[in-house]
Amino acid sequence: MAITRLLIANRGEIALRIHRAAHEMGIETVAVHSTADADAMHVRLADHAICIGPPAARDSYLNMAAIISAAEISHADAIHPGYGFLSENAKFAEIVEAHGITWVGPKPEHIRTMGDKVEAKRTAGALGLPLVPGSDGAISDIAEAAKIAEEIGYPVIIKAASGGGGRGMKVCHGPDELETLVQQAGSEAKAAFGDDTVYLEKYLGNPRHIEFQVFGDGKGNAIHLGERDCSLQRRHQKVLEEAPSPVISPEDRSRMGGIVAKAMADMGYRGAGTIEFLWEDGEFYFIEMNTRLQVEHPVTEAITGMDLVREQIRIAEGRPLSVTQEELRFTGHAIECRINAEDPFTFAPSPGLVTSYHAAGGMHVRVDSGLYAGYRIPPYYDSMIAKLIVYGRTREGCIMRLRRALEEMVVDGVKTNIPLHQALMHEPDILNGDYTIKWLEEWLAERG
Ligand code: ADP
Repeated sequence: MAITRLLIANRGEIALRIHRAAHEMGIETVAVHSTADADAMHVRLADHAICIGPPAARDSYLNMAAIISAAEISHADAIHPGYGFLSENAKFAEIVEAHGITWVGPKPEHIRTMGDKVEAKRTAGALGLPLVPGSDGAISDIAEAAKIAEEIGYPVIIKAASGGGGRGMKVCHGPDELETLVQQAGSEAKAAFGDDTVYLEKYLGNPRHIEFQVFGDGKGNAIHLGERDCSLQRRHQKVLEEAPSPVISPEDRSRMGGIVAKAMADMGYRGAGTIEFLWEDGEFYFIEMNTRLQVEHPVTEAITGMDLVREQIRIAEGRPLSVTQEELRFTGHAIECRINAEDPFTFAPSPGLVTSYHAAGGMHVRVDSGLYAGYRIPPYYDSMIAKLIVYGRTREGCIMRLRRALEEMVVDGVKTNIPLHQALMHEPDILNGDYTIKWLEEWLAERG
């Protein structure tokens, strides 16, 4: 059914991103916002705006009742959750659908399955995806955990089944620390996610983070849109992403892409999803699936020419996938820099008034951001304030253009990590594409 009015249950750059796709499709938008975001760009641009609560996310962007009421009051016929907040909340998806509102996202049962990492691993294994060796499900007692760790070999990583955002993980180097770390991981997981279920897997020494973008129509058809390399991380949080990965061959792309697309087709998966792998010595190991749009989706848009939000909306309307696997072409190279309001080297958040702002521009340069001069970055939310996405016909050309674009970006009044990105774009290892998930932290440690 055609969507005519879309409620955007999110904030910041992604709310604006969704608004733009909707308007390009002739769909009206409804912005919902906390009191702290009344002056946000997407709130100004949306056709309708409704305040849903005070600054704290639990009272606004996570407040299901307030969002559903806003949808009813504004006669929205669909809800797009963006990423984060309620995007992977199966209960919310069910409530939306129970109200006769179209959910621009996967089927609730798939969100639920993949949201539980233990369940997700089991499902991925059954669908034929290669897994990181580890416990077959949750670990219930220490003796069992010790036995598994011995089998797969130390170091091992203890992970929370409900973990996310790089939190809820502990690396264990030997049997003497296992019991303490399992207990710690369990109680921290309980406190953070309300669930103390943990599992164990082999800690890979020096992998890359490679993820595949997928789309399913919910009726047994699915395609993959290639991979993104998100190995540049700090504290398991992505800092910069690129597509294609400098280390994945066209053969590996179509082989692994084919496996993930088939898995999604077999599942009857609907909408956008990302299958995350660690990659080491030429082997892929599934770690998790995200049942939503990713922050880094624009690099895939750049090399495929597809608008992923438009595709999500089309699928939610029950329309078929807009391209076949055979029609999809990957051309050129794209890199995204996440620009955060923070100290570039200590990473201390730096919210506050943006006194002047100039976005980079020119050929193949995209800035996704709700910033403007005079905007006050609220201290309550994530520190990401912009994404700079640059495209080039080659990786070298992309890097040269990215350096140029970083020089042009001006965000005054607050500190940003632009100097960090500039420094990275002159590092030989980055220029050579020779980096793993460990690289950035080691580099930062060397610089003191
Ligand atoms: P989250 O949902 O919190 O993002 P993930 O399972 O996706 O958690 O893992 C996040 C990051 O943690 C990965 O990108 C990688 O850097 C690191 N990591 C996760 N599992 C392993 C592992 N088995 N070995 C080494 N590093 C890992």
